[in-house]
Amino acid sequence: MKKAWSILPDEWKEELKGRGLRPFRADQILQALYRDWIDDWDKATTLPKDLRQTMKSEFPLTETKTLAESVSSDGTKKLLVGFADGAAVETVLIPATGRFTQCISTQVGCAMGCAFCASGAQGVVRSLAADEIVAEYMAGRAAGEITNIVVMGMGEPFANYDETMRALRLINAGRGPNLGARHITLSTCGVVPGIERLAKEGIQFELSVSLHAPDDELRSELMPVNRKWPLDVLMRTCAEYTRETKRIITFEYTVIRGVNDSRRQAEALAALVKRVPMAKVNLIPLSPVSHRPDFQTPDESTMMMFLDVLMKAKVQTMLRRSRGKDADAACGQLRLRSIAK
Ligand code: SAH
Repeated sequence: MKKAWSILPDEWKEELKGRGLRPFRADQILQALYRDWIDDWDKATTLPKDLRQTMKSEFPLTETKTLAESVSSDGTKKLLVGFADGAAVETVLIPATGRFTQCISTQVGCAMGCAFCASGAQGVVRSLAADEIVAEYMAGRAAGEITNIVVMGMGEPFANYDETMRALRLINAGRGPNLGARHITLSTCGVVPGIERLAKEGIQFELSVSLHAPDDELRSELMPVNRKWPLDVLMRTCAEYTRETKRIITFEYTVIRGVNDSRRQAEALAALVKRVPMAKVNLIPLSPVSHRPDFQTPDESTMMMFLDVLMKAKVQTMLRRSRGKDADAACGQLRLRSIAK
Protein backbone atom coordinates (compact mmCIF):
# COMPACT_ATOMS: atom_id res chain seq x y z
CA MET A 1 0.00 0.00 0.00
CA LYS A 2 1.31 3.40 -0.99
CA LYS A 3 -0.42 6.73 -0.54
CA ALA A 4 -1.65 8.19 -3.84
CA TRP A 5 -0.51 11.70 -2.89
CA SER A 6 3.06 10.48 -2.40
CA ILE A 7 3.42 9.29 -6.00
CA LEU A 8 4.86 11.70 -8.59
CA PRO A 9 2.92 11.83 -11.89
CA ASP A 10 5.80 10.20 -13.81
CA GLU A 11 5.90 7.30 -11.35
CA TRP A 12 2.30 6.16 -11.77
CA LYS A 13 2.86 3.78 -14.69
CA GLU A 14 5.51 1.84 -12.76
CA GLU A 15 3.38 1.80 -9.62
CA LEU A 16 0.43 0.37 -11.54
CA LYS A 17 2.56 -2.29 -13.22
CA GLY A 18 3.98 -3.24 -9.83
CA ARG A 19 0.44 -3.96 -8.64
CA GLY A 20 -0.47 -5.91 -11.78
CA LEU A 21 -2.64 -3.05 -13.03
CA ARG A 22 -2.77 -1.70 -16.59
CA PRO A 23 -0.32 1.22 -17.05
CA PHE A 24 -2.62 3.08 -19.48
CA ARG A 25 -4.85 3.90 -16.52
CA ALA A 26 -2.19 6.35 -15.30
CA ASP A 27 -3.59 9.23 -17.37
CA GLN A 28 -7.13 8.70 -16.09
CA ILE A 29 -5.85 8.49 -12.54
CA LEU A 30 -3.90 11.75 -12.92
CA GLN A 31 -6.98 13.41 -14.38
CA ALA A 32 -9.06 12.33 -11.41
CA LEU A 33 -6.41 13.43 -8.89
CA TYR A 34 -5.30 16.76 -10.33
CA ARG A 35 -8.01 17.90 -12.75
CA ASP A 36 -11.10 16.76 -10.88
CA TRP A 37 -9.32 17.12 -7.52
CA ILE A 38 -11.03 14.10 -5.99
CA ASP A 39 -10.68 13.57 -2.25
CA ASP A 40 -12.24 10.11 -2.36
CA TRP A 41 -11.73 7.35 -4.96
CA ASP A 42 -15.51 6.86 -5.10
CA LYS A 43 -15.65 10.22 -6.84
CA ALA A 44 -13.34 9.04 -9.64
CA THR A 45 -16.28 8.19 -11.86
CA THR A 46 -14.12 7.98 -14.99
CA LEU A 47 -12.56 4.81 -13.58
CA PRO A 48 -14.35 1.44 -13.65
CA LYS A 49 -15.91 0.53 -10.35
CA ASP A 50 -13.63 -2.40 -9.56
CA LEU A 51 -10.57 -0.22 -10.22
CA ARG A 52 -11.91 2.39 -7.82
CA GLN A 53 -12.06 -0.32 -5.16
CA THR A 54 -8.51 -1.41 -5.94
CA MET A 55 -7.27 2.18 -5.80
CA LYS A 56 -8.86 2.54 -2.37
CA SER A 57 -6.97 -0.37 -0.94
CA GLU A 58 -3.69 -0.09 -2.86
CA PHE A 59 -3.30 3.70 -3.20
CA PRO A 60 -5.46 5.38 -0.56
CA LEU A 61 -6.01 9.13 -0.39
CA THR A 62 -4.74 10.67 2.82
CA GLU A 63 -7.57 11.71 5.08
CA THR A 64 -7.53 14.99 6.94
CA LYS A 65 -9.97 16.74 9.23
CA THR A 66 -10.23 20.48 9.78
CA LEU A 67 -10.05 20.69 13.57
CA ALA A 68 -10.23 24.48 13.92
CA GLU A 69 -10.59 27.43 11.65
CA SER A 70 -10.19 31.17 12.11
CA VAL A 71 -10.50 34.11 9.78
CA SER A 72 -8.88 37.45 10.55
CA SER A 73 -10.19 40.88 9.58
CA ASP A 74 -7.62 41.16 6.76
CA GLY A 75 -9.03 38.00 5.15
CA THR A 76 -6.22 35.69 6.27
CA LYS A 77 -7.63 32.26 6.99
CA LYS A 78 -6.03 29.72 9.23
CA LEU A 79 -6.82 26.01 9.36
CA LEU A 80 -5.77 23.39 11.86
CA VAL A 81 -5.43 20.24 9.76
CA GLY A 82 -5.61 16.95 11.66
CA PHE A 83 -4.25 13.58 10.47
CA ALA A 84 -5.32 10.00 11.21
CA ASP A 85 -3.12 9.66 14.32
CA GLY A 86 -4.54 12.85 15.85
CA ALA A 87 -1.46 14.96 15.05
CA ALA A 88 -2.29 18.38 13.63
CA VAL A 89 -0.56 21.21 11.78
CA GLU A 90 -1.52 24.72 10.84
CA THR A 91 -1.86 26.02 7.34
CA VAL A 92 -2.53 29.67 6.58
CA LEU A 93 -4.24 31.10 3.48
CA ILE A 94 -3.29 34.65 2.64
CA PRO A 95 -5.22 36.56 -0.02
CA ALA A 96 -3.62 39.52 -1.83
CA THR A 97 -4.26 41.24 -5.14
CA GLY A 98 -3.73 38.64 -7.86
CA ARG A 99 -2.39 36.12 -5.38
CA PHE A 100 -3.57 33.46 -3.02
CA THR A 101 -0.64 32.28 -0.91
CA GLN A 102 -0.64 29.19 1.25
CA CYS A 103 1.76 28.91 4.18
CA ILE A 104 2.58 25.23 4.67
CA SER A 105 3.83 23.22 7.66
CA THR A 106 6.22 20.29 7.26
CA GLN A 107 6.39 19.00 10.85
CA VAL A 108 4.10 18.71 13.83
CA GLY A 109 5.85 21.13 16.17
CA CYS A 110 9.53 21.85 15.63
CA ALA A 111 12.81 20.74 17.18
CA MET A 112 14.83 23.86 16.38
CA GLY A 113 13.78 25.77 19.49
CA CYS A 114 14.02 29.38 18.22
CA ALA A 115 13.25 31.53 21.26
CA PHE A 116 10.60 33.77 19.64
CA CYS A 117 8.72 31.03 17.76
CA ALA A 118 5.50 29.40 18.98
CA SER A 119 5.90 26.30 16.78
CA GLY A 120 8.91 25.05 18.71
CA ALA A 121 7.65 25.96 22.17
CA GLN A 122 6.67 22.34 22.83
CA GLY A 123 9.26 20.51 20.74
CA VAL A 124 8.60 18.28 17.76
CA VAL A 125 6.01 15.49 17.71
CA ARG A 126 6.85 14.09 14.27
CA SER A 127 7.60 14.98 10.68
CA LEU A 128 4.93 14.91 8.01
CA ALA A 129 5.16 12.39 5.19
CA ALA A 130 5.01 13.72 1.61
CA ASP A 131 1.38 12.64 1.16
CA GLU A 132 0.41 14.51 4.34
CA ILE A 133 2.05 17.69 3.09
CA VAL A 134 0.15 17.29 -0.19
CA ALA A 135 -3.06 16.61 1.78
CA GLU A 136 -2.44 19.87 3.67
CA TYR A 137 -2.12 21.66 0.33
CA MET A 138 -5.38 20.03 -0.81
CA ALA A 139 -7.14 21.20 2.36
CA GLY A 140 -5.97 24.74 1.60
CA ARG A 141 -6.81 24.47 -2.08
CA ALA A 142 -10.42 23.78 -1.19
CA ALA A 143 -10.63 27.48 -0.22
CA GLY A 144 -9.49 28.65 -3.65
CA GLU A 145 -6.80 28.14 -6.26
CA ILE A 146 -3.36 28.52 -4.69
CA THR A 147 -0.96 30.74 -6.68
CA ASN A 148 1.99 30.65 -4.27
CA ILE A 149 3.31 28.39 -1.53
CA VAL A 150 5.63 29.47 1.26
CA VAL A 151 7.04 26.71 3.44
CA MET A 152 7.00 28.96 6.48
CA GLY A 153 4.52 27.17 8.70
CA MET A 154 5.40 24.85 11.53
CA GLY A 155 8.60 22.86 11.35
CA GLU A 156 12.00 23.08 9.73
CA PRO A 157 11.70 21.86 6.12
CA PHE A 158 15.38 20.84 5.94
CA ALA A 159 14.93 18.67 9.04
CA ASN A 160 12.39 16.76 6.90
CA TYR A 161 14.17 17.23 3.59
CA ASP A 162 13.17 14.18 1.52
CA GLU A 163 9.45 14.20 2.28
CA THR A 164 9.19 17.97 1.89
CA MET A 165 10.99 17.91 -1.44
CA ARG A 166 8.86 15.03 -2.73
CA ALA A 167 5.67 16.89 -1.82
CA LEU A 168 6.86 20.12 -3.46
CA ARG A 169 8.01 18.30 -6.60
CA LEU A 170 4.58 16.71 -6.81
CA ILE A 171 2.79 20.06 -6.39
CA ASN A 172 5.14 21.53 -9.01
CA ALA A 173 4.70 18.65 -11.52
CA GLY A 174 3.16 19.57 -14.88
CA ARG A 175 0.75 16.64 -14.84
CA GLY A 176 0.11 17.26 -11.15
CA PRO A 177 -1.09 20.52 -9.59
CA ASN A 178 1.39 22.34 -11.87
CA LEU A 179 2.31 25.18 -9.52
CA GLY A 180 5.40 26.95 -10.91
CA ALA A 181 8.68 26.35 -9.06
CA ARG A 182 9.30 30.07 -8.72
CA HIS A 183 6.00 30.35 -6.88
CA ILE A 184 7.24 27.95 -4.18
CA THR A 185 9.47 29.30 -1.40
CA LEU A 186 11.33 27.21 1.16
CA SER A 187 12.39 28.86 4.40
CA THR A 188 15.13 27.45 6.63
CA CYS A 189 16.48 28.51 10.00
CA GLY A 190 19.95 27.77 8.61
CA VAL A 191 20.36 24.01 8.24
CA VAL A 192 23.50 24.15 6.10
CA PRO A 193 23.38 20.62 4.58
CA GLY A 194 19.84 21.37 3.37
CA ILE A 195 20.98 24.53 1.57
CA GLU A 196 23.79 22.53 -0.05
CA ARG A 197 21.38 19.83 -1.19
CA LEU A 198 18.86 22.32 -2.56
CA ALA A 199 21.61 23.92 -4.66
CA LYS A 200 22.08 20.55 -6.37
CA GLU A 201 18.38 19.77 -6.99
CA GLY A 202 18.31 21.64 -10.28
CA ILE A 203 14.91 23.11 -9.50
CA GLN A 204 13.99 26.77 -9.27
CA PHE A 205 12.34 26.88 -5.87
CA GLU A 206 12.92 30.15 -4.00
CA LEU A 207 15.04 30.05 -0.84
CA SER A 208 14.65 32.14 2.32
CA VAL A 209 17.06 31.95 5.24
CA SER A 210 16.01 33.13 8.71
CA LEU A 211 18.78 35.26 10.18
CA HIS A 212 17.30 37.37 13.01
CA ALA A 213 20.68 38.36 14.46
CA PRO A 214 23.87 39.80 12.92
CA ASP A 215 26.37 38.16 15.30
CA ASP A 216 26.96 34.65 16.62
CA GLU A 217 26.47 35.44 20.27
CA LEU A 218 22.96 36.79 19.89
CA ARG A 219 22.02 34.39 17.11
CA SER A 220 22.99 31.36 19.22
CA GLU A 221 20.86 32.72 22.02
CA LEU A 222 17.81 33.25 19.79
CA MET A 223 18.38 30.29 17.47
CA PRO A 224 20.15 27.23 18.92
CA VAL A 225 20.79 25.97 15.35
CA ASN A 226 23.52 28.64 15.17
CA ARG A 227 25.69 26.61 17.55
CA LYS A 228 25.88 23.87 14.97
CA TRP A 229 26.17 26.08 11.89
CA PRO A 230 27.44 29.52 12.93
CA LEU A 231 27.15 32.62 10.76
CA ASP A 232 30.48 32.23 9.00
CA VAL A 233 29.70 28.76 7.62
CA LEU A 234 26.06 29.74 6.97
CA MET A 235 26.94 32.84 4.95
CA ARG A 236 29.65 31.00 3.02
CA THR A 237 27.15 28.29 2.12
CA CYS A 238 24.60 30.93 1.06
CA ALA A 239 27.17 32.70 -1.12
CA GLU A 240 28.05 29.38 -2.74
CA TYR A 241 24.33 28.63 -3.27
CA THR A 242 23.78 31.88 -5.18
CA ARG A 243 26.89 31.30 -7.30
CA GLU A 244 25.87 27.75 -8.11
CA THR A 245 22.19 28.39 -8.83
CA LYS A 246 22.29 32.03 -9.96
CA ARG A 247 19.30 32.45 -7.67
CA ILE A 248 18.74 35.10 -5.06
CA ILE A 249 18.43 34.33 -1.34
CA THR A 250 16.01 36.26 0.85
CA PHE A 251 17.19 36.76 4.42
CA GLU A 252 14.41 37.04 6.97
CA TYR A 253 15.02 39.33 9.91
CA THR A 254 12.36 39.42 12.62
CA VAL A 255 12.85 42.64 14.57
CA ILE A 256 12.46 42.27 18.36
CA ARG A 257 12.34 45.39 20.50
CA GLY A 258 15.52 46.00 22.47
CA VAL A 259 17.00 42.68 21.35
CA ASN A 260 18.15 42.98 17.73
CA ASP A 261 16.84 46.41 16.72
CA SER A 262 19.72 48.88 17.21
CA ARG A 263 21.37 50.96 14.50
CA ARG A 264 24.64 49.13 15.14
CA GLN A 265 22.86 45.80 14.58
CA ALA A 266 21.29 47.10 11.38
CA GLU A 267 24.74 48.08 10.11
CA ALA A 268 26.15 44.69 11.08
CA LEU A 269 23.27 43.00 9.26
CA ALA A 270 23.99 45.00 6.11
CA ALA A 271 27.67 44.00 6.23
CA LEU A 272 26.73 40.36 6.80
CA VAL A 273 24.29 39.97 3.90
CA LYS A 274 26.68 41.75 1.56
CA ARG A 275 28.87 38.67 1.81
CA VAL A 276 26.27 36.97 -0.40
CA PRO A 277 26.34 38.16 -4.02
CA MET A 278 22.59 37.88 -4.66
CA ALA A 279 20.77 38.69 -1.47
CA LYS A 280 17.80 40.64 -0.25
CA VAL A 281 16.34 41.20 3.19
CA ASN A 282 12.79 40.96 4.51
CA LEU A 283 12.24 42.86 7.73
CA ILE A 284 9.37 41.52 9.82
CA PRO A 285 8.11 43.00 13.08
CA LEU A 286 7.87 40.31 15.76
CA SER A 287 4.46 38.76 16.34
CA PRO A 288 4.10 38.51 20.11
CA VAL A 289 4.05 34.95 21.45
CA SER A 290 2.52 33.98 24.77
CA HIS A 291 5.50 31.95 26.04
CA ARG A 292 7.86 34.95 25.77
CA PRO A 293 6.06 38.06 27.03
CA ASP A 294 9.47 39.78 27.28
CA PHE A 295 9.76 39.77 23.47
CA GLN A 296 7.90 42.74 22.05
CA THR A 297 7.03 44.24 18.69
CA PRO A 298 9.25 47.19 17.70
CA ASP A 299 7.89 50.66 16.97
CA GLU A 300 7.23 51.72 13.42
CA SER A 301 10.09 54.24 13.71
CA THR A 302 12.56 51.46 14.55
CA MET A 303 11.45 49.48 11.50
CA MET A 304 11.99 52.61 9.38
CA MET A 305 15.45 53.22 10.84
CA PHE A 306 16.40 49.62 10.09
CA LEU A 307 15.09 49.90 6.55
CA ASP A 308 16.96 53.16 6.06
CA VAL A 309 20.31 51.75 7.22
CA LEU A 310 19.98 48.75 4.91
CA MET A 311 18.89 50.82 1.91
CA LYS A 312 21.78 53.24 2.40
CA ALA A 313 24.12 50.25 2.43
CA LYS A 314 22.53 49.27 -0.92
CA VAL A 315 20.91 46.11 0.37
CA GLN A 316 17.60 45.38 -1.33
CA THR A 317 15.11 45.38 1.56
CA MET A 318 11.38 44.85 2.00
CA LEU A 319 9.27 45.71 4.99
CA ARG A 320 6.77 42.92 5.72
CA ARG A 321 3.56 43.26 7.59
CA SER A 322 2.49 40.44 9.80
CA ARG A 323 -0.82 39.14 8.45
CA GLY A 324 -3.73 37.64 10.31
CA LYS A 325 -2.70 38.67 13.80
CA ASP A 326 -6.20 38.72 15.24
CA ALA A 327 -6.72 35.12 14.12
CA ASP A 328 -3.73 33.73 16.04
CA ALA A 329 -2.38 33.44 12.53
CA ALA A 330 1.23 34.07 13.31
CA CYS A 331 3.42 31.04 13.59
CA GLY A 332 2.05 28.06 15.47
CA GLN A 333 -0.33 29.84 17.75
CA LEU A 334 -3.58 28.20 16.72
CA ARG A 335 -2.15 24.77 17.49
CA LEU A 336 -0.71 25.96 20.81
CA ARG A 337 -4.10 27.32 21.78
CA SER A 338 -5.89 24.14 20.85
CA ILE A 339 -3.35 22.03 22.76
CA ALA A 340 -3.89 24.27 25.79
CA LYS A 341 -7.66 23.76 25.72
N1 SAH B 1 11.81 26.71 10.12
C1 SAH B 1 11.77 27.62 9.02
C2 SAH B 1 10.36 27.95 8.54
C3 SAH B 1 9.30 28.26 9.58
S1 SAH B 1 9.27 29.83 10.36
C4 SAH B 1 12.54 28.88 9.34
O1 SAH B 1 12.96 29.04 10.47
O2 SAH B 1 12.77 29.68 8.44
C5 SAH B 1 8.95 31.04 9.14
C6 SAH B 1 9.47 32.40 9.55
O3 SAH B 1 8.72 32.97 10.64
C7 SAH B 1 10.92 32.34 10.04
O4 SAH B 1 11.66 33.40 9.50
C8 SAH B 1 10.73 32.49 11.53
O5 SAH B 1 11.90 32.89 12.16
C9 SAH B 1 9.60 33.49 11.61
N2 SAH B 1 8.98 33.60 12.92
C10 SAH B 1 8.82 32.65 13.85
N3 SAH B 1 8.20 33.14 14.94
C11 SAH B 1 7.96 34.44 14.70
C12 SAH B 1 7.36 35.50 15.46
N4 SAH B 1 6.89 35.28 16.66
N5 SAH B 1 7.27 36.71 14.87
C13 SAH B 1 7.74 36.92 13.63
N6 SAH B 1 8.32 35.98 12.87
C14 SAH B 1 8.45 34.74 13.40
